[in-house]
Amino acid sequence: MDNKILTSLSYGLYAIGVKGPERPSACIVNTVFQITVSPPVIAVSLNHDNYTNACIRNTGRFSVSVLSENTPAKVIGDLGFKSGLDTDKLKNISYEISSDDLPVIKENCCCWFNCKLVDKIETATHTLFLAEVYSGSDEVKDTPMTYKYYHEVVKGSAPPKAPTYQPENDKLSSVNANYVCKVCGYVYDNPEIPFERLPDSWCCPICKVNKSEFILK
Ligand code: FE
Repeated sequence: MDNKILTSLSYGLYAIGVKGPERPSACIVNTVFQITVSPPVIAVSLNHDNYTNACIRNTGRFSVSVLSENTPAKVIGDLGFKSGLDTDKLKNISYEISSDDLPVIKENCCCWFNCKLVDKIETATHTLFLAEVYSGSDEVKDTPMTYKYYHEVVKGSAPPKAPTYQPENDKLSSVNANYVCKVCGYVYDNPEIPFERLPDSWCCPICKVNKSEFILK
């Protein structure tokens, strides 16, 4: 079997907010799905090494912000490609603290909800957290970003700790790709401006590294 067939599964893009010992933090996940209606229980998968994983274990609570298609790549880069252990990932992001000191994303967020841990399942690399939704926003604004949209329109990729990470060619749409970011996998394929003509000050819109970190594919 080719593991790439699993890339046909559908996902979204979400920010998981947590209360850390020193400051609030958040990370990006693509696996949030509803398990039961009454009570409303959802599941989320997080790598064992993920700082957010440790925070949920400590506090038993987390928030979910459903990101919209208008979410800037910079927000995904700040939350998805850095560690909250040594970085204030929310430093340049508009957010507010909801109940239980949980951060929720304010800009380009379709809706948010807070969750209380009810159970967890361990796998070799990831923890599946089961949690009951107990509060949240009243409506859904804008269009939620799907994982397919993230790959094909935002040109983003999955970091190595994501459950859907593909070691080789994680792209769903890299047929015409030219230059690829070695750090996050972002594909530069703007036909109007050749990569070589981008200014030296240009940096990856996802993870912020400069042009020298891109390789020709
Ligand atoms: Fe990058």
